[in-house]
Amino acid sequence: MKVTTLASGSSGNAIYIEDQEEAILIDVGLSGRAIVERLAAIDRDLSRIKAILVTHEHVDHVKGVGVLSRKLDKPVYATEKTWAAMAKTVGPVADENRRYIEAGKGIEVGEFQLEVFATSHDAVDSVGYTIHTRHEKLGVLTDTGCINLSIKDQLAGSDMLICESNHDLDMLKKGPYPWNLKKRILSQKGHLSNISAGHILADLCSGTTQQVVLAHLSQENNEPDLAYTTVAEIMEKKGCAIGRQVDMAVAPRGGPGPVYDLGSGE
Ligand SMILES: [Zn+2]
Ligand SMILES: [Zn+2]
Repeated sequence: MKVTTLASGSSGNAIYIEDQEEAILIDVGLSGRAIVERLAAIDRDLSRIKAILVTHEHVDHVKGVGVLSRKLDKPVYATEKTWAAMAKTVGPVADENRRYIEAGKGIEVGEFQLEVFATSHDAVDSVGYTIHTRHEKLGVLTDTGCINLSIKDQLAGSDMLICESNHDLDMLKKGPYPWNLKKRILSQKGHLSNISAGHILADLCSGTTQQVVLAHLSQENNEPDLAYTTVAEIMEKKGCAIGRQVDMAVAPRGGPGPVYDLGSGE
């Protein structure tokens, strides 16, 4: 499995995942044109994409979903409530390309098996995904204010984890956001702080974990270096050796990150 973030953060999110012949996108929070440009930057095009999977209806996750589905004539997967909530942003999608998912129910999309799990966010029915190929498992967790045991169970044993590390608590508290917005971000239905990400990742980091990517960093309330060091410190304290046991990186906000090759495991 090969994986890269094409964009990450409040100005847009998209994750590109490919296996032997096929690829899928988790969220398309960019214009169709930006997706094409960013795929070209990693030497890819739209031809392998078999489906788009949506986490929730916020515009930074669905901006280009409709455009891309119409252009490629490929299916979009979202929960029933999310379909209703994103209808305006996404526009018309052909009936046969409207696919419905539900937290707790697995689905098969070409070469990929996916598990869908509920997250805790101020959206109508937000979800996260684990993506399985024959040999590898990727866990994707962004846009959640907290996690519970069932989310941890879902993500356990991942070869790669893309985990939200949205804000530094001090920067958010002292920063320019109005109090209501700060309260929302900090709430159980908001976003994960660097500290929360550190604890979650330390708990999830196992012998199989090769790569961790910190994602959905706030432009105003975080800095890549700060996110990295905060998370790394917590993980190291809990016995997870960064750089030796597991590699860690921060997803760039405005362009594709490196293409991680999780290897065939064969
Ligand atoms: Zn969101
Ligand atoms: Zn978001």
